[in-house]
Amino acid sequence: MDAFVLKKIHDMKGRKTLNICPLCCRENADVNKPNYDDFYVHCSFCGSFFITSTALVNLEQHLRNKLPSIIRERAVKGMSRLAIFSERPRLEENRVGSYYRVVTLEEVEDMFPKNISERIDRTLINLTSITAYPGSKIKIETSDKNLFFTESNDGMETLFLMEQLVNDGYVIGHVKIPTELKVTVKGWNSVSELQRKEEDSKGSKQAFIAMWFSSEMDAAAEQGIKKAISDCGYNPVRIDQKEHNNKIDDEIIAEIKQSNFVIADFTGQRGGVYFEAGYAMGLGKPVIWTVRSDDLTNVHFDTRQYAHIVWNDTEDLYQKLFNRIKATIATPSIGAHAEKESI
Ligand SMILES: [Zn+2]
Repeated sequence: MDAFVLKKIHDMKGRKTLNICPLCCRENADVNKPNYDDFYVHCSFCGSFFITSTALVNLEQHLRNKLPSIIRERAVKGMSRLAIFSERPRLEENRVGSYYRVVTLEEVEDMFPKNISERIDRTLINLTSITAYPGSKIKIETSDKNLFFTESNDGMETLFLMEQLVNDGYVIGHVKIPTELKVTVKGWNSVSELQRKEEDSKGSKQAFIAMWFSSEMDAAAEQGIKKAISDCGYNPVRIDQKEHNNKIDDEIIAEIKQSNFVIADFTGQRGGVYFEAGYAMGLGKPVIWTVRSDDLTNVHFDTRQYAHIVWNDTEDLYQKLFNRIKATIATPSIGAHAEKESI
């Protein structure tokens, strides 16, 4: 953040609205500032988002350049707006409402394409998303630089990516700004293929573990549950949640959404595990219920009807869980392919 502009914005503490975008510093924005820390921004260049003043202070230049592309991509795909915080806020703060996706600066960095081919792919998806119908032309103005995932303010970078799309045969048009581009049949086919891959990878290999966090459960978690999941070809995900916190945070919700199925172990009778299992069921995801034998009688009345895997020790848990996953969950596509090849 330009220190001068930030100071100017902070000096306007008493004002509720501003016209300077705190991200690009252009005077073409509509900024609602209900208090000292919060900025609700609608910028004709950067898009609509929420950001805190702490996040703005900690926002490094390269990330400030990247952010508008991430915001634009979400807008063209019809995804929720970003609420950018320096650090993850406590859930009960609920400063922005469910219309926004809460992210930290670190997470924003992760949302940017990792390499040039991913930039090309995601730019092409953006271009098809804003195309009215196949064959129609798209007007590209200066403010559409954000469609191209550039990380600098250098216009040459946009032209470089545009030229690559033309050379690869994905779009036709003059490489300049402003210009008009048209996505070719090859481009549309490439987008279909990319979307299919995205659907395949999304959650198909991830399994979420909901369980009690206690040192006495470490072996069961590592050698029992995680090992059974991995040996069946899935990636186990367990969010370390502090016991005293007793909150279901956004990260857990997001990971469950992205998972193919959930293993819920009820040993220790934690409220969070019941919530996570119920949430996954509500999303139509398979839940495998497990509990250590000495705690079976304590399982809540409402969920006793579900067949629990009752285990005695880590080895027993591993074996029963492995068998259940194999029997009830479809093998992930990559694993299935590998298995066929090995036969
Ligand atoms: Zn802006």
